[in-house]
Amino acid sequence: MKLEFLYEKTLTGTLNAKKRKQEQYRKIVSHLYYNGASSIAEIVKTAKISQPLVASLVEDLLGFGVILENGIGESIGGRRPNLFCINAEYQYVVGVDINLHRLNLAVFDMNNHLVYREEFKEFELENNSEYCQALAEKVNIALETINVSRERVLAVGISIPGLVDAEKGLTHTHLSFAEEGVCAYLNRKLGFSILVDNDARAMALGEKAFGKAKDKKNVLCLNLSNGIGLGMILNGELYSGKNGFAGEFGHILIDPEGTLCSCGKIGCLETLTSGKILVRQIREGIENGQESFLAKYEKEGKKIDLRAVVDAILAGDQFAIDQLNKMCEYLGKGLVTLIHLLNPEMIIIGGRLAQAGKYIMSPVSMWMNKYAMDKISSEMELVNSDLLDDAALMGTMANVMKKVVSNS
Ligand SMILES: [Zn+2]
Repeated sequence: MKLEFLYEKTLTGTLNAKKRKQEQYRKIVSHLYYNGASSIAEIVKTAKISQPLVASLVEDLLGFGVILENGIGESIGGRRPNLFCINAEYQYVVGVDINLHRLNLAVFDMNNHLVYREEFKEFELENNSEYCQALAEKVNIALETINVSRERVLAVGISIPGLVDAEKGLTHTHLSFAEEGVCAYLNRKLGFSILVDNDARAMALGEKAFGKAKDKKNVLCLNLSNGIGLGMILNGELYSGKNGFAGEFGHILIDPEGTLCSCGKIGCLETLTSGKILVRQIREGIENGQESFLAKYEKEGKKIDLRAVVDAILAGDQFAIDQLNKMCEYLGKGLVTLIHLLNPEMIIIGGRLAQAGKYIMSPVSMWMNKYAMDKISSEMELVNSDLLDDAALMGTMANVMKKVVSNS
């Protein structure tokens, strides 16, 4: 899908001339987006365009309003240089993080700041046009609330669980009802360019751009919520595989004699270790008379969901902690296979279960130490995500900006 900055719609000349100009402008915008306020000399170095041409392009971009003057920098001999930066309010990116039971919506300015953030609980993911219609309405309400005109929307980035072909804009597990694909469908409904990717890969992009994977080259990002997702940064790039389906870590076979998984196979990792299974085991334990903070929940008519379980763990509920501990052995074993194969420098644990903090990090680390080859595991860091619930949302922003400034 072609993404254009607002000013690019006004460029004139032959197709080739327009394309060349667009590329030159984007090199400058890209430099300022990734490096912040910079002088012309600094832009020349990364954009590899001559100094007089950069000066002239910067003048144009100031005229378009996409960049602004930003004070005076330090002298490196001679006159102190003028600095330029992106105009944060020039355009906006809408981020939509679709979960099975809730929807997170955000609007970002060009400085990656959240100018709008809303979580819609009990927004059940359904494979139909009504769901997309409701989603489109939420996007429109968000833009009206913060008074952003429709022409100022650069694109909408979506993250969603399941199999996603980001290149083709197709989702195969959820929102697969429209033959044209979810991106084309929402593009017709909303009138904006739409980008989609799998939630774990969006999280990995978020971690790479804004979180602990910044400046790292080989990082595995785990999305531990109801299911298990995996986003892989390999050699500095997001790895998607042939069809964009890489990272289905939750569906590797662990127990051939095990139980049926949501994917139709038997004994996947997700059937032994996932938020969904943890919640189910805790509910079953309580039904069988197990003592727990959560037993009170049931009596009060409240739902025991993953959020409630994580809260109980953090409050020290022994039964919930024990159940999580048991699950971590399978997770640890699964992760050991990954680190033996890929030799990452870091594994980031994100998603709702990551909020259990030390109660998940310590047992996972212990099981990994037990099963991994010391030489491979000892220099690898296992860390908790700082971005927590926002990682996938931040990833949608990173995905859109990567696409627009790389001009692909
Ligand atoms: Zn499965």
